[in-house]
Amino acid sequence: MTLSGKVMVTGGAGYIGSHAVLALLDAGYRVVVIDNLVTGFEWAVDRRADFVNIAVEDAGVRDVIRDHDVQAIMHFAGSVVVPESVQNPLKYYRNNTAATRALIESAAENGVKHFIFSSTAATYGNPTKVPITENDPQLPINPYGMSKLMTEAMLRDVAAAHPINYGALRYFNVAGADPQQRSGQSTVGATHLIKIAVEAATGKRAAVGVFGTDFATRDGTGVRDYIHVSDLADAHVAALAKLIEAPSDSFTFNCGYGRGFSVLEVLDAVDRVTNMTIERRIEGRRAGDPAELVADNSAILAALDWTPKRAELDGIVRDALAWERKLAELGK
Ligand code: UDP
Repeated sequence: MTLSGKVMVTGGAGYIGSHAVLALLDAGYRVVVIDNLVTGFEWAVDRRADFVNIAVEDAGVRDVIRDHDVQAIMHFAGSVVVPESVQNPLKYYRNNTAATRALIESAAENGVKHFIFSSTAATYGNPTKVPITENDPQLPINPYGMSKLMTEAMLRDVAAAHPINYGALRYFNVAGADPQQRSGQSTVGATHLIKIAVEAATGKRAAVGVFGTDFATRDGTGVRDYIHVSDLADAHVAALAKLIEAPSDSFTFNCGYGRGFSVLEVLDAVDRVTNMTIERRIEGRRAGDPAELVADNSAILAALDWTPKRAELDGIVRDALAWERKLAELGK
C-alpha cells in the first residue's frame, strides 16, 4: 500500500514522531516533517525526510500541504506532561485541542485524505476495569486527557462531514528506542519511568523514586502496559495502510500489549539488563496516577496487519539503555 504524494508527520522531531518517520521511510513512503522544535530536535529527523520548521496551527501549513502533495497526516505534535496540564490547562487546550482544530481545518480544506491521531489511555481516566477496551467510559482525570478526548470528538465529526478518514490510536506507556539506535527518547527533563531508570543506570541521576507502594496491585506499585516505540511506529504504518485501503472507514484502537508490569518489576528488569542495582527511593503517590492501566488490544490485532515484535520487557529496557548511552556519548 502506498501513496502518490507524501505523508506529513507533525512532531516528527519528537520521540514517537521520529520513530514513525523511520517506519514510514522504511516502508517506502515519502515524508515531510513539520515541527516547531520547542521540544523536538532537528537532528532526530531522518535525512530522507523533508523538514519544515513551522507550528501545526500556522496558516503556512496549507502551503506545506500543497507544495508537498500531502495526502495523509500523522499528528504527533502536542504537549504531553500530565502534571503540567493540571497546572496550566490552557496550554494543553491551546497546543493540543486548538492547534489540532487548525490542523484538521488545513487538512480538510486542502484535500488531505487520511489523518492519524496520537490519542492516549489518559482519555479513560481511572478505569473501572482492566484490561481496558475501546468502548469503556472515557472520563479523563486531567486536562491532558481531556484535551486529547476533545480532539477525538472533532475528528469523528469532521470525518462524517468531509471526505477524510481517520485513525485514533490510544497509546498506553511508550518506551524503548529504535533497535538500530537511529532515534530514541531524548527529551530533556523526562518524567517517564523507563527513561528515568536508564538515566540512573548511566549516572545522570542518583536513584529512582517509586511513587506509591499502597496501590491495589500485586506488589503495591503502579502497573502499566509498556509498548516498544518501534512496535507503536509500525502500528501507525499499518493504520495508514488500512485508511488508504478503506477510505470511508475510520477507527479507534488501543495500542498496548495487553499485559502490565509494576514499577518494581520494571526496576528489576533494569537491574537485570544493566547488571547493576539501581537505588530505589520509596516516595508517596504522584497526584493523578491510576493503579493499573492495561490495554485490551484485541481490536487492533484483529483489524490491522500488525504483529507486535518487541513486547519483551528486558528488550524494551535494553533498547532504552542503548539509546541513553548513545546520548551520553554524544554529550546530549
Ligand atoms: N513512576 C515512578 N517513578 C518515576 C516515574 C514514574 O514510580 O520516577 C511510576 C508512576 O507512578 C506510574 C508508572 O511509574 O505508576 C509509570 O509512570 P510514567 O510517568 O512512566 O507514565 P504514566 O503512566 O504516568 O503515563
